[in-house]
Amino acid sequence: MGGDERPVDLAVIGGGITGAAVARDASLRGLSVVLFEKGDFSSGTTSKSSRLIHGGLRYLEGFHFRLVYESLRERDWLSSRLPHLIRPVPILIPVYRGDRRGMGKVWIGMRLYDFLARGKETPRYGTLPAGEVARRVPGIRREGLSGGALFYDYQLPVPERLVMENLLSASGAGARVQNRAQVEEIGFEAGAFRLRVRDVLTGAREEAAAAAVINATGPWADRTRRLFGLHDEILHPTKGAHLVFPGISPHALFAASPKDDRMFYILPLAGSILVGTTDTAYPGDPDAAGATDE
Ligand SMILES: Cc1cc2nc3c(=O)[nH]c(=O)nc-3n(C[C@H](O)[C@H](O)[C@H](O)COP(=O)(O)OP(=O)(O)OC[C@H]3O[C@@H](n4cnc5c(N)ncnc54)[C@H](O)[C@@H]3O)c2cc1C
Repeated sequence: MGGDERPVDLAVIGGGITGAAVARDASLRGLSVVLFEKGDFSSGTTSKSSRLIHGGLRYLEGFHFRLVYESLRERDWLSSRLPHLIRPVPILIPVYRGDRRGMGKVWIGMRLYDFLARGKETPRYGTLPAGEVARRVPGIRREGLSGGALFYDYQLPVPERLVMENLLSASGAGARVQNRAQVEEIGFEAGAFRLRVRDVLTGAREEAAAAAVINATGPWADRTRRLFGLHDEILHPTKGAHLVFPGISPHALFAASPKDDRMFYILPLAGSILVGTTDTAYPGDPDAAGATDE
C-alpha cells in the first residue's frame, strides 16, 4: 500500500451495504472517494440478514405510517432498478382463532399496506379462507386455523451482489475501494482527517487523508467512534439468529410464535428454508457474535 498525499473528499469506513452505497453515491456526484473494509466486502451484518426488502408491514402495528410509506417507496425504487437481483415473494400470514391479530385486524393491516403501496406494480394483498391456507401450506397446523392473509414483499437473495454492484459503480466513477484494510487510528492534522490503515493480510500500513469521513461500520460504529475520540456509546446492539432447514416451500410465512407472540419469517431461500430471526441484546464484540445452543 502506498500513502496518499492529497486528501480525498471522502473516506468511507466499512464495506457493507451502507458503505458501498455511500461510496457509489458520493463518487457519482463527483467526489473523490476511498473506502476501507477490514474483512471482505459484505462480511459484516449485510451477509447475515433475512434478505428481505420489506415495506415494513409490522410497523403498522405501531402506527408508523410515514415509515411504512417511505419503506414501500424505497422498495419499489429498488425493484424497478434491480429486477435482476430482487424478486417479489408471496408471504402468507396464517391466523388462528383466539390470535391477538385476528382476521379483522389482519384484514385492516392488509388494506392499509395496500393503500400505502398504491400505484405500484407489486401484486396486491388478499385474505384467504382456512381451506386455501391449508392447501397452499401443506403440513400447517389446521386445528383452530381461521384463515390467512397474503401480501407481497421483495427478496434480495444475494445482498453481497448488490454490494459488489455498488462498489463496481463507485470504482468506475473513480473511487478506490479496498478490502482487508482495517482503519486503526484516526487523527486530524492540517485541515484533514488522517486515517492509519493496516493491510490485514500483509501487515503493511498506509496513511490516507480525507476532508470528511463516514463511519459505515454497522455494529462496530461505537468502536469506530472511539478512533475519533468519541467515547459515548450510541448503539444498543442486538443479535439475530436464523435456523436453516433443508426443503422447499412455495410460500413464505410471517407467523406469530405461540410462545411469546413475536412475529418471525419462514422464507424459501436457495433450496432451503430460513426461519427467524431472533432479536436479543448483544453488548459483546461484533467479531465474536455467533449462534449459541440456546
Ligand atoms: C438477523 C438479521 C436479519 C436482518 N434482516 C434484514 C432484512 O431482511 N432486510 C433488511 O433490509 N435488513 C435486515 N437486517 C438489517 C441489515 O442486515 C443491516 O441494516 C445492514 O446489513 C447494515 O449494513 P451496514 O453496511 O450498515 O453494516 P455491516 O454490513 O455490518 O458493515 C459494516 C462493515 O464495517 C467493517 N468495519 C468495521 N470496523 C472497521 C474498521 N475499523 N475498518 C474497516 N472496516 C471496518 C466490518 O467488517 C463490516 O463489513 C437484518 C439484520 C440482522 C442482524
